[in-house]
Amino acid sequence: MIDAHSKKKSLSPQRFNLVVSLHDVSPQTEEIVTQQLEELRALGVSRCSLLVIPDHHHLGLITRFPSFIRWLQTQASRGHEIILHGFNHLSGPRKYQHPWKRLIAEHYTAGEGEFYDLNYEQACLLLEQGKSVFQNADLDLSKIVGFIAPAWLLSQAAEAAVADAGFSYTTRLHGVVNLQAKPHRFFPSQSMVYSVRSVWRRAASLAWNESLLLYATQRKWPLLRIGFHPVDWKYNAIKAHLLSSVQRSLQTRTPLTYQEWLAQIFHTDSSRGAAKPDEYPG
Ligand SMILES: [Zn+2]
Repeated sequence: MIDAHSKKKSLSPQRFNLVVSLHDVSPQTEEIVTQQLEELRALGVSRCSLLVIPDHHHLGLITRFPSFIRWLQTQASRGHEIILHGFNHLSGPRKYQHPWKRLIAEHYTAGEGEFYDLNYEQACLLLEQGKSVFQNADLDLSKIVGFIAPAWLLSQAAEAAVADAGFSYTTRLHGVVNLQAKPHRFFPSQSMVYSVRSVWRRAASLAWNESLLLYATQRKWPLLRIGFHPVDWKYNAIKAHLLSSVQRSLQTRTPLTYQEWLAQIFHTDSSRGAAKPDEYPG
């Protein structure tokens, strides 16, 4: 996937952007996410994409937490983008026929690939429920145009459901998908993300993400994506690398939300106007 970027070298500087996304935002993680937002603001990032889970691990719909809803509305009013991030962030007890699917579902996602193997109807139902929760939270649905699946794992059928539910875009680990284009248009940009479940994973993550950052800089990727997770904040080395990566990126990149970046790249606007069939810049 990285090689896909090697052909995109002649880009104008104003096209260098950074999207910082904060994953797994919920009443259960509000305190850590608040800390992350404060640290980012201190670095100069005042607009992030917030991936909000309507019912995190079945611990209660966000609408049952009025102080969280007020907090979320405040973040939106400050320019942060709210994105629907699954519904409960857990995959159901399913039997996987295919060994690769089973491996992905049980090991890679730690059982959190909620949209990984949903069919169209199942995905439609969860998406409608998610939108309904956001509506009940008095969030402005016209400004919520992104859906990102837990662990970025989205079946093809579920991707079709996301588009049909009116979302403008989704992201995957390796890039951003414009769902307004027919066929859907994929923009390669691998996200920085850390695996922290064991000592060796954390060590490997630090090395991998440093390489990814250097590669993205050298190859002049138009978009750099850095993903924060609440659990990252438990590990000082991971936290330090995340913040250092943001700080270094800001020397050459302008921070935007996904929605703003897409509006810029696709010449669309947040009112979901039709996308022009532009080619990838460069
Ligand atoms: Zn997540």
